[in-house]
Amino acid sequence: SLDDVIRPTHLVVDLKIIKENFRRIKEAVKPSKVMPILKANAYGHGLIKIAQTLEKEGADYLGVAFLEEGILLRQQGIKMPILVLGGIWGNQIPTFLKYNLTMTASSIDKARQIDSEARKQNTIAKVHLKIDTGMERIGVHYYNAPKFFDEAVKLKNIGIEGIYSHFANADICNTDYTKLQFDRFMQSLDYFERLDYAPVIRHISNSGGILQLPEANLDMVRPGIMLYGVYPSQEIKRTIEVNPALTWKSLVIYFKVIKAGHPVGYGSKWIGEKDVRAVTVPVGYGDGYMRRMSGKARVIINEKKYPVIGTISMDQIVVNIDCDSAYNGDEVILIGKQGKSEITVEDLARWAETIPYEILTNINTRVPRIYI
Ligand code: PLP
Repeated sequence: SLDDVIRPTHLVVDLKIIKENFRRIKEAVKPSKVMPILKANAYGHGLIKIAQTLEKEGADYLGVAFLEEGILLRQQGIKMPILVLGGIWGNQIPTFLKYNLTMTASSIDKARQIDSEARKQNTIAKVHLKIDTGMERIGVHYYNAPKFFDEAVKLKNIGIEGIYSHFANADICNTDYTKLQFDRFMQSLDYFERLDYAPVIRHISNSGGILQLPEANLDMVRPGIMLYGVYPSQEIKRTIEVNPALTWKSLVIYFKVIKAGHPVGYGSKWIGEKDVRAVTVPVGYGDGYMRRMSGKARVIINEKKYPVIGTISMDQIVVNIDCDSAYNGDEVILIGKQGKSEITVEDLARWAETIPYEILTNINTRVPRIYI
């Protein structure tokens, strides 16, 4: 069986939960289309498997961060439309066309470059125009959108399939800035609609927007983190219920008693005042189990939570099980549930003083993913 060869430290991704989360989002935003966001290895869950699952499940579009992610999907046989959300360089345009990946035109200059390459190839390039409504990353500022649209519609070798923007603050309770961005976007779209171009797919909402501002769902929504069952923040109302799809597991590989006064790990940061029973677990910051959680992290063994002691190493951690027993081969839960105990992505984010997004996207590719 797989258990004989697989690395003891692995992720178990429950595809039934991903599908159920997707269905709940789709139902909640109906009749809007849904573009699952699969950037950064599908938020750590594994790009290809998640794409295959959602293609079958009837997602309308897939969103990735950059060209190479799109190529990987095409090479693995994904046929559905894929939008690359990031900026493009002129020399990438032939490759975008070759793999039938939808480009983001984030300036008039880029739109012209796409148009000219498409003309050379005697084809029409599919593009989504990006409007910056208050994020200041990429895109034409909303106050310059009319000029951008006037020029873009003249380019005969680009087909404007969509127009989009992105929320900067949709993960906080106060929706003032999100509403301001939405208003700016709607005003830009008003202008576009007067140009008498074919209808376009209008999209702006990420997970926070979907949960908090349903009027911004428009023609399509772009859920990322909530598809994986994690909320964009702790503070916002969970208007759609989703469940975490991932469990991060390992096994006890070593047991020993650490004598009082004998330090543990690099820098000898942890020294016990009494003898303690401890186990070593083969996971570390090289897997994305972040070093800055040292001194705070906990794991579950035999349904009980225990502290990780000493500095987290690249490939190993030491767990203080105090007076309890644990044996080589016992399961260790780094994220997920065991019996009544649970450690969440949010727990790790708190220990690492970061956001759940960073915890998920940092789980290294050297950690095998197993799908159930
Ligand atoms: N759309 C764009 C352009 C993004 O960059 C992202 C992710 O950052 C998303 C949608 C999905 O965001 P979330 O994971 O908060 O749903």
